[in-house]
Amino acid sequence: MGTHGPKIVESRNIPQLSTGDMLRAAVAAGTDVGKKAKAIMDSGGLVTDEIVIGIIKDEIAKPECQNGFILDGFPRTLAQANALDQMLAARGEKVNCVIALEVPDSVLEERICGRWIHKASGRSYHVKFAPPKSLPAGAKPSASNMKDDMTGEALMQRSDDTAEALKKRLSSYHAETVPILKHYEPAGIVTRCNANQAMDKVWGEIEGALNKTSSGSWSWKSLAFMTLQAAFVYAVCSKRFNLKLV
Ligand code: AMP
Repeated sequence: MGTHGPKIVESRNIPQLSTGDMLRAAVAAGTDVGKKAKAIMDSGGLVTDEIVIGIIKDEIAKPECQNGFILDGFPRTLAQANALDQMLAARGEKVNCVIALEVPDSVLEERICGRWIHKASGRSYHVKFAPPKSLPAGAKPSASNMKDDMTGEALMQRSDDTAEALKKRLSSYHAETVPILKHYEPAGIVTRCNANQAMDKVWGEIEGALNKTSSGSWSWKSLAFMTLQAAFVYAVCSKRFNLKLV
């Protein structure tokens, strides 16, 4: 998601709404939602459906989401998927494309635990697979040598990007999030992509699925993009309007 999300934002010119980022901002600001969410997030558990559904409902009603939006990290449970369907139906929209980016659990620990993020932009780096220019070859990564390529600002590691929290994130992914694919499969809108290959190949598969959707008789209204723990799911929501994606 950190890699492909910004590309979709750029190519479709629509905002991205990330429940994880919103919750982290609430934790940093010390709001009531943040206080409720912090311990759950640090342990790798899922925040209650009520909280995340409320956050998304408020966000998609904003004017900047009029021409579409990307949802990142939502829905993660069947209850959230049902709530999303209802929210979209009330606007005359529906999910019409879901792309699951699949990565074997065994590969994830190295990927997740080596991840560093530029907080302001969401740009994502990896100590081994996508190091920033500031990291000298062979050096031990630290806050002083892990800097964003574009701004030179310090990168950070998420408090839940640990092997221990990952175990819990994976178990909730398999138990709660995978069923979302089954929920959308009968509509024939789910594409599974192999995300355990070179990034340009992954992007090629994503674009193929997105293009397949946009060339159909349905034009796009909004794009929901759901990031999961072990796989990433993009869902495209549509409306029978003469809207075109730029
Ligand atoms: P993410 O940045 O998407 O990996 O989310 C980080 C953490 O925020 C997750 O491990 C959950 O604790 C919480 N979170 C984010 N989105 C959701 C959601 N849709 N439902 C429940 N918890 C969520």
